[in-house]
Amino acid sequence: MRCILASGNQHKLREITDILNGQIELTTQASLNIDSVPETGLTFVENALIKARHATRVSGLPAISDDSGLEVRALGGRPGIYSARYAGPSATDEENVTALLSELADQEDRQARFHCVIVLLEHELDPTPIIAIGTWAGRIAARASGSNGFGYDPVFIPQGRASTAAELSATEKNAISHRGRALGSFAQQFEARYGA
Ligand code: IMP
Repeated sequence: MRCILASGNQHKLREITDILNGQIELTTQASLNIDSVPETGLTFVENALIKARHATRVSGLPAISDDSGLEVRALGGRPGIYSARYAGPSATDEENVTALLSELADQEDRQARFHCVIVLLEHELDPTPIIAIGTWAGRIAARASGSNGFGYDPVFIPQGRASTAAELSATEKNAISHRGRALGSFAQQFEARYGA
């Protein structure tokens, strides 16, 4: 099946294509000049559906999208669905990391979790989307370290590890991350439905 991938985030594109390639022929929405749509939902699932619905409506192709973010316990779950915009509407990854470390400066509770939702809509009015969910538990480090990955990886220490997600190789991260887990579930559901 040929699908459009409704994400402009190059890092997410790489992780998703690394895992799904071979099973699904993926075309990025940027390569078809489809712009991004405002993420107006209140949940990861709603935002993933909004992005995929926009991409399939404009392209006429089935669309896959990812919505993801970081939930920090001491912040009541923030930044959550606003993870990309935590330090402002066009914040860089570095600005978001700096804002998070400063908000948690005197905080002993460092528990956090990444969430990822991957959806597939066959067409704009598809009433039975595939919805796959993955989480990744860990804690927020005192300072940033590592240069792999993206987003909050330099300050996220996965449960059972001593170093940050930005110190894992791409293969190591994909095997245990929220996105890797969501994509594993997605691939199973895809195969069950379409016999890939
Ligand atoms: P989205 O593009 O609206 O789904 O925003 C996702 C945001 O969550 C990203 O910009 C990152 O800040 C954060 N995020 C999601 N997944 C990861 C990850 O695997 N590592 C680090 N940060 C992530």
